[in-house]
Amino acid sequence: MSANFILTVIIVFYIVDFLIEQLVSFLDDKNNNASINPELKGVYDEDKYAKSLKYNHQRYLFGLFKNSFSFIILLLCLLYGVFGNIETMIMSAYQNKLIVSICFFGIIFLFSEIISLPLSYYSTFVIEHKFGFNKTNLKTFLTDKLKSMLIAFIIGTLIFSVLIFSLGYLGKNFWVLFWVFSVLFTIFISEFYTVLIVPIFNKLLPLEDGDLRDAIKEFANKVNFKIDNIFVIDSSRRSSKSNAYFSGLGKKKKIVIYDTLIKNHTKEEIVAIIAHEIGHYKHKHTIKGLIMSFVQTGFILYLLSFAIFNSNVSIALGGTGISYNLGLIAFGLLFSPISLLFGILSNFLSRKFEYEADKYVDLNYETTHFIAALKKLYSDNLSNINPHKLNVFLNYSHPTLLQRIMAFKK
Ligand SMILES: [Zn+2]
Repeated sequence: MSANFILTVIIVFYIVDFLIEQLVSFLDDKNNNASINPELKGVYDEDKYAKSLKYNHQRYLFGLFKNSFSFIILLLCLLYGVFGNIETMIMSAYQNKLIVSICFFGIIFLFSEIISLPLSYYSTFVIEHKFGFNKTNLKTFLTDKLKSMLIAFIIGTLIFSVLIFSLGYLGKNFWVLFWVFSVLFTIFISEFYTVLIVPIFNKLLPLEDGDLRDAIKEFANKVNFKIDNIFVIDSSRRSSKSNAYFSGLGKKKKIVIYDTLIKNHTKEEIVAIIAHEIGHYKHKHTIKGLIMSFVQTGFILYLLSFAIFNSNVSIALGGTGISYNLGLIAFGLLFSPISLLFGILSNFLSRKFEYEADKYVDLNYETTHFIAALKKLYSDNLSNINPHKLNVFLNYSHPTLLQRIMAFKK
């Protein structure tokens, strides 16, 4: 395949991918005005429902602008061989492969951060602010950005060191070694995320003794679930949106509850949410999800080995010969149809897991408290309660509120 042909395929895939995404958001936005199922009456009062429609419509318009903007920029970069030019420029100054990779992806990352900064500012301080969600200030906003960039730099350097070592050591079979590394790295991050990454941004404090802690412990004992670590995160520093999650595998597992969740929900509702999370554990969803992602990663890396060692793939992006930097970018774009299929499959499984965890609440706790908690979460976050079917099929990791309520009635 000639470089020109490869570039054409990349651009066609990229345009189709962009159009599908915009079509789905458009359908979703149109669906906002459809009548609501009677089961969902009571989630919103009339005023709040009007507010949620407005909020979701503004986010749609903002997303449309943001996506079109980045679409045009990347398209221009592809047409003018910008990626190849950047790499050639760096290679004329440095020989060391690791330095070239870090500079190459560093420049692209920094450039995209800089052009997306005003958009990110607008989203937080204009849209989220207007609807009462934003609690952050400019100082926290900018320090968050700097911290994320530093973390990306450290993790990126580690990943590229391993990639370059694997390529030099095993050549075309590099993917096997890199796969093993990515599996170990993913396990490490899932195990230590709450200890290593979260404290960089937030304060985690153990849940104080009291009614709530007792109620959680009592439920956990009843279902034979060992739980020592219950933490409260000060998420209200940034946003009034609420959530709760489990983190870590095996004995290190922790429950993290947003302080906003504690503020807005009854004790029974919080226990119901935690019962749902325990349901995920009892059904081994975390492990199943991890294994599935390992299989996917192996397959992706295997395919990547073909793109990296084909010089025409790099030339298509403006390079001069075999380059894994350009190969990685080209592969990311060439891979989009398969990535769409993977997305559909993993969202389907994730929704199945959610139904199972909901069922667990139904069997072991009070469904009414859980439904009340869900409705409150949707209303407090001004979530879209009427998404389009196609959007749910392609992008939703959770069933819709209506689907979840109806599943309890079966
Ligand atoms: Zn869940």
